[in-house]
Amino acid sequence: MQKEPITLSFDAIVIGGGIAGGEAALNMANNGYKVILIEKRLSLGGKMIMLSKVFPTLDCSACITTPKVSEISRHPNITIFTESDVTSVEKKGEKNFIAKVTRRPRYVVAEDCTACQLCEQACPVIVKDQFQYNLVGRKAVYIPFSIASPKVAAIDIDNCSLCGACEKVCPPGCIDFTQKPQDYIINAKTAIVATGFKLYDPSNVPRYNYGEAKNVITSMQMERLLAPTRPFHTILRSSDGKVPDKIAYVLCAGSRDDSLGNPICSQICCMYSIKQAQLLMGALPMADITLYYIDIRAFGKGYDEFYEQAVGMGVRFVKGKVGRITEKENGNLTLRYEDIATGKLKESEHDLVVLSVGVKPNSEPADIFTSHKLELDSLKFVKQSDPLLSPAKTTIEGVFVAGTATGPKDIPDSILSAGAASTEAISYLNQ
Ligand SMILES: Cc1cc2nc3c(=O)[nH]c(=O)nc-3n(C[C@H](O)[C@H](O)[C@H](O)COP(=O)(O)OP(=O)(O)OC[C@H]3O[C@@H](n4cnc5c(N)ncnc54)[C@H](O)[C@@H]3O)c2cc1C
Ligand code: SF4
Ligand code: SF4
Repeated sequence: MQKEPITLSFDAIVIGGGIAGGEAALNMANNGYKVILIEKRLSLGGKMIMLSKVFPTLDCSACITTPKVSEISRHPNITIFTESDVTSVEKKGEKNFIAKVTRRPRYVVAEDCTACQLCEQACPVIVKDQFQYNLVGRKAVYIPFSIASPKVAAIDIDNCSLCGACEKVCPPGCIDFTQKPQDYIINAKTAIVATGFKLYDPSNVPRYNYGEAKNVITSMQMERLLAPTRPFHTILRSSDGKVPDKIAYVLCAGSRDDSLGNPICSQICCMYSIKQAQLLMGALPMADITLYYIDIRAFGKGYDEFYEQAVGMGVRFVKGKVGRITEKENGNLTLRYEDIATGKLKESEHDLVVLSVGVKPNSEPADIFTSHKLELDSLKFVKQSDPLLSPAKTTIEGVFVAGTATGPKDIPDSILSAGAASTEAISYLNQ
């Protein structure tokens, strides 16, 4: 039987627990405001917590994200709901928002789970691990990843065979198949949207052969292969587990192309590709790495020097648009491209190809706000009502936006915009 909704009240509701949402919640909480942070996945941290290192400093992403996430999780003014959906937000008047939120069951009593992973070892069901971008498998009961927050097991009930093996081995006995979704009614005086971005799905472009040729992967999959919390302890290609020695990057994969429905520059792809190339040169010193690019857009502070550093390390840059990727019998890939320097069509062979996929909008927030219209811009990112003077304002007064929900941004810009959104929200509360 569905339980009755629980009503809770806060100063602010922040939707999206990536780095932008977390930072906005933390700023408000540090100023004495009570905040509820809603994340739809099992862990906070968004994409940043899954990255390897960050450009241009090459600081370890996990080492920066984990203390921040831990500060957010322990803050007395922040309540966190993970694995939760905001089904609607209604504006009843100034400083009066009512949100309906559903917390999905984990089928594990979170407070009792010690993250011992004995359930994982006992579970016989193996499915693809979406947190490792399908590079490896996971069990039906699992801890999302080693630095997940909260670090608590959850059961993927759609794939669970209900065999009960996890229940038998769990020392505190915290597996609970009777858990049901719990609805909440949240009263809040302001809202911050920090729902982030989506990655371009390269299987929409048949000429890249993604999903067909095993050794064509995305840049996010390469982030996982390079990360300290990586699934293997080296870089392996998917078809045969070989350590690659001739790696190609295809930049602007699904960006700056009207015919693919994504006319914009994703801003981050040049820089993360250059970062990954440098990390690969460290991990595989003998490897030959080539970046096929349209333009290198190294726009930020220290970014051009970072590019020059890659050139100096021996990364090869070829100005050319890749037309087709075909798979050979041995799993190697042939890239057909137009070499802009000579104007000739050329072919080259690589044993691993990384698609530097672009940024797509997450337009979900438009459907969440029911009484007033949260407008999107022409590209379907959240519209900024005053992009020059108050970039955190949306088309609903009292609702602010942080991070990549408004368009592509790197981490420093996402954090800056979270600062702007939380400051605007505080001013609104003090009006
Ligand atoms: C391959 C790759 C490498 C990168 N490398 C770097 C780098 O080296 N340096 C750098 O500065 N930047 C890098 N970036 C960019 C960086 O990932 C982003 O700047 C950053 O993740 C933006 O944070 P965000 O919080 O705005 O969005 P996200 O990280 O997308 O977080 C949004 C969060 O909101 C949640 N959410 C979404 N919709 C809802 C909803 N309806 N309800 C509740 N929750 C919701 C999501 O689950 C997610 O947790 C890289 C990006 C990629 C793809
Ligand atoms: S009950 Fe489900 S989660 Fe538990 S061990 Fe069996 S298949 Fe795995
Ligand atoms: S066995 Fe129990 S305590 Fe250990 S991780 Fe699994 S659910 Fe948590």
